[in-house]
Amino acid sequence: MNFNIERIRADFPILSREIYKRPLIYFDNAASTQKPRQVIDAIRQYYEHDNCNIHRGVHYLSVKATEAYEEARREIMQFIHARNTCEIIFTKGATESLNLVASSFGKRYVRSGDEVITTIMEHHSNFVPWQQMCIERGATLRVLGINESGEIDPGELKGLLNEKTRLIAMTHVSNVLGTINPVKDIIAMAHQHDIPVLIDGAQGVSHLPVDVQDLDCDFYCFSGHKMYAPMGTGVLYGKEKYLEEMPPYQLGGEMIKDVFLDHTTFNELPFKFEAGTPNVEGVMGLHAAILYLKELGMDNIAAYEDQLLKYATEKLSGISGIKFYGTSSHKASLISFLIGDIHPYDAGMIIDKLGIAVRTGHHCAMPLMDSLKIPGTVRASFAFYNTMDEVDHLVTAICKVKEMLS
Ligand code: PMP
Repeated sequence: MNFNIERIRADFPILSREIYKRPLIYFDNAASTQKPRQVIDAIRQYYEHDNCNIHRGVHYLSVKATEAYEEARREIMQFIHARNTCEIIFTKGATESLNLVASSFGKRYVRSGDEVITTIMEHHSNFVPWQQMCIERGATLRVLGINESGEIDPGELKGLLNEKTRLIAMTHVSNVLGTINPVKDIIAMAHQHDIPVLIDGAQGVSHLPVDVQDLDCDFYCFSGHKMYAPMGTGVLYGKEKYLEEMPPYQLGGEMIKDVFLDHTTFNELPFKFEAGTPNVEGVMGLHAAILYLKELGMDNIAAYEDQLLKYATEKLSGISGIKFYGTSSHKASLISFLIGDIHPYDAGMIIDKLGIAVRTGHHCAMPLMDSLKIPGTVRASFAFYNTMDEVDHLVTAICKVKEMLS
């Protein structure tokens, strides 16, 4: 595998800074990744040369900015292998994408007595919108559990499907357990019953090659900031047949076609779901991030991160008293753990003082924490710019935590 880690790290300016006089070790990539110079430069280039509102102008800058925005949409379409640019909706992140579908799909397709299925491992952003939509519409939310390794059971899911099921909404990769769900099989099973499936890809798209036509998912949602792109950017992929039928989510701006005193007609896809002035500079950065990922190759990224995960799992397993949450053989590159009965916040504070950024707490997955009967975990989540040497420092830091708090 041609993976020049030193060259890659040199692309990320923040990785050369120090924290508490120690070189930064950044293991909080599941919360947000760092940005390469290429992304930062794309934003600066946009503001220094092309800044303008898009879609509504005939002058040079407006046309240029519009073309660049639509070119980014084409790049994203190719990156996830969608059929058509009209299936790519820009949002401000996975959360907005998920809320959009819950609200709009709910209004169009969910009636009193219907059911929606999700899982216990969901991030709040893919749980609460369905919970609230079901409450509003008099529908029932069915929640699939997990086994000891942190995996769902497709057989159990099959048992939940019935003629009242309107949608399955589940994560591609758990942000707490790291589990990669067998989404392709689940989608095939659901489609045998004509049930559409939404995949929360917030932790999927930056770690694995994603092909929405191969998966045959009906919706796929993700955030730019977890894939080396700016905050405030995100994507909703949806099959045209559903997006066409769903009512607009927000009103105003480019989503309008004609307004009369007593009614309004709406723009075609994808603009129907893009109300107001969008985050154009963010999309320029997202475009640059995707070019960067393509250059590295998603297969290479997945293979390197898998090596990191295996190395870290082996090294951390050697620490007595450590307990892992999420031990599936099919995992993305993150490890959630607790050290004896040490509270995750206390562990996180000491690890931080050693220059290592890990995340502690419930990771926006309270139903999962309740089912595991724990207050939270310490989570180290890896990206392709992390190294085995950094993992060794984490092991030393955890040993220090034990020494100080046991
Ligand atoms: N789903 C998952 C699985 C996540 O990990 C996150 C972010 N932690 C989200 C959804 C929400 O993403 P955002 O905050 O970028 O909208």
